[in-house]
Amino acid sequence: IHLIDKVEIGVANYPLHASTSLQLVQRGLQALAVKPLHGERWHMFNIENVTLSQRRIAIASALKEAIECDQLSLFFQPQIYLNTGKVHGAEALLRWEHPQLGNVPPDLFIPIAESSGIISDLTEWVITQALQYQKKMIVLLPEHIVSINISAKDLLRKDLPVLFITLLNEHQLNPANVMLELTESATLFEGVDIKNALNDYRLIGVKIAIDDFGTGYSSLAYLSKMGFDEIKIDKQFVMNIEYSKNDQTICRATCDIAKSLGSYVVAEGIEDSQSMAKLQSYGCEVGQGYFFSRPLPFDDYMQWLEENLETTTVFVNDLEKVVDLIGKNNY
Ligand code: C2E
Ligand code: CA
Ligand code: CA
Repeated sequence: IHLIDKVEIGVANYPLHASTSLQLVQRGLQALAVKPLHGERWHMFNIENVTLSQRRIAIASALKEAIECDQLSLFFQPQIYLNTGKVHGAEALLRWEHPQLGNVPPDLFIPIAESSGIISDLTEWVITQALQYQKKMIVLLPEHIVSINISAKDLLRKDLPVLFITLLNEHQLNPANVMLELTESATLFEGVDIKNALNDYRLIGVKIAIDDFGTGYSSLAYLSKMGFDEIKIDKQFVMNIEYSKNDQTICRATCDIAKSLGSYVVAEGIEDSQSMAKLQSYGCEVGQGYFFSRPLPFDDYMQWLEENLETTTVFVNDLEKVVDLIGKNNY
């Protein structure tokens, strides 16, 4: 009878890693906690991983307090229709200002929140805040779309759609003006019936975007089956679009794919007018990036929104000037 088909071995050395037998066993177990790189079944203890995991534990426990102690805030980064210069909406981006650690970037704390389970509370907080703010934003721009980032782990929860229904009702918001951004890796998350999870949201009427498109491995068949409302090109393909032929090909192809699937495209990471003009020539509908604005605290975003509701024609004129300057044949 075949009883055991998987053995994992943690390796630690005396006296290199530990001075007592108890510590040696602990080090062996700690080595096991780190995923091996190439699927090996043995793991060598590495002091750097311990420091790293201690740091992660410290951040995870500080993150628990962050919500209660009011250290979190939402920033908003505008999204603009490239053809008209009109405001499409904004992406809500989480910020964490810790009294000792300072400004902790989301790229650092979101993965820790995901692996420690704190992400559920964080996501609830973000959704609640974002929809409260959306109520104020639609006073200035009734068709304003608010985009909210959702983690793969959040898709497993059955109670989040209920939270959406409750908040949308409470604030009397149009669900079609709420966009959920799911990273491409989230949509390929193993063990999650994405299509089913997304159906719950579709029934409510909120829209779904595939975020960081191009960084994962989704097939065309998969994209078509999922029917995303929006495809978001990751900034890594946009930031060098002017010089990189590969990035140009990727962006152009993404726009073509989106068109044939009936989705629209948002490009993030637009930092200058040349990149914007290139993306526009590929048929990309909406842009986001430092060229338009950095992510702003809510009050600043409201001020920006107020000022930019009026300046759309100026923007279009600028665009024409840019087109004349670079020469239409270049893109
Ligand atoms: P993302 O969803 O890809 O968000 C876009 C990131 O690109 C933001 O970084 C934004 O500040 C940055 N960005 C936008 N335009 C430009 C540009 O022109 N140039 C450059 N260099 N960067 C630009 P941020 O705010 O640091 O967020 C990083 C990531 O953290 C996000 O990537 C998202 O994956 C995650 N994140 C942020 N807020 C939340 C949240 O509320 N929930 C979840 N689950 N994830 C979040
Ligand atoms: Ca996003
Ligand atoms: Ca991205």
